[in-house]
Amino acid sequence: MAIFNYLKSLSLHELFKGMSVTGRYLFRPKITVQYPEEKTPMSPRFRGHHALRRYSDGEERCIACKLCEAVCPALAITIEAEPRDDGSRRTTRYDVDLYKCIFCGFCEEACPVDAIVETRKFEYHGAVKGDLLLTKDKLLAIGDELEPQIAADRAQDAPYR
Ligand code: SF4
Ligand code: SF4
Repeated sequence: MAIFNYLKSLSLHELFKGMSVTGRYLFRPKITVQYPEEKTPMSPRFRGHHALRRYSDGEERCIACKLCEAVCPALAITIEAEPRDDGSRRTTRYDVDLYKCIFCGFCEEACPVDAIVETRKFEYHGAVKGDLLLTKDKLLAIGDELEPQIAADRAQDAPYR
């Protein structure tokens, strides 16, 4: 066996085998994606940057039930709430700590009013400490910016929920 392996190595068998793979793929269509000019298809269930949504009249969807906070396995959500003058319950603080978040999607699954969602936004970064601590204002701003895409994704996924 040792002599066979020795003769095989002398014949450069592995080299030619590798070259044959290179030759086979040389003229095939390339599947490499030229990111960021090209993007791969993305699921409507993609779990990216969080957002808080509003109804079409501008009212916040979130009713401060705290289900998302309770279900979050990373303890990344912090909510404080109090009743408004009209008796409705709304958050006074809604933070998502992206340093802790594991993007499991449990928060959006638990939400009874589709208020907290994970969007398709994945190209973001934190330049200074605290940038990835998302406050209620930041979350609502992202929601306002991406609402058409969020609504379209929810409509597409509705038959399966
Ligand atoms: S995606 Fe998961 S870990 Fe992140 S905030 Fe939601 S429930 Fe918590
Ligand atoms: S985002 Fe949804 S689950 Fe979380 S507190 Fe608001 S209504 Fe409840």
